[in-house]
Amino acid sequence: MKNWGFNISKPRAIDFDTADTSEYSKIIEKVPSAQRCLMCGACAATCSASNHIDFNFRNCHLKYRRGQFEGLAEEFDKCMLCGKCKLVCPRGVNTRAVIYNMRIFLNDLNYKNIE
Ligand code: SF4
Ligand code: SF4
Repeated sequence: MKNWGFNISKPRAIDFDTADTSEYSKIIEKVPSAQRCLMCGACAATCSASNHIDFNFRNCHLKYRRGQFEGLAEEFDKCMLCGKCKLVCPRGVNTRAVIYNMRIFLNDLNYKNIE
């Protein structure tokens, strides 16, 4: 078969009956603008950190929403809290505050350094 240089993503099903979305409600409480995110990816495309290292805020945000916390604390540690993503967000999401609060909650949840 011809190799076109890309693959079809593996199918991934999210079971929302078992996913823990309660933690995300706490983020919404702290930063209400987070619920306006439409996952457009403008924040990730312009991120200062991702210019140099592998980091994608949009992806981390989505995982947090779905209650998939493993490895997220380490990912958020890559963010410099520069706020550039906030400037480009078309929905006015206070991304910097979202990341800041997610870091705190992940720390409280002891989700640091989980393999
Ligand atoms: S730029 Fe704003 S709306 Fe787009 S994915 Fe990032 S936070 Fe969400
Ligand atoms: S605040 Fe963090 S996620 Fe946003 S642009 Fe800066 S380094 Fe990237």
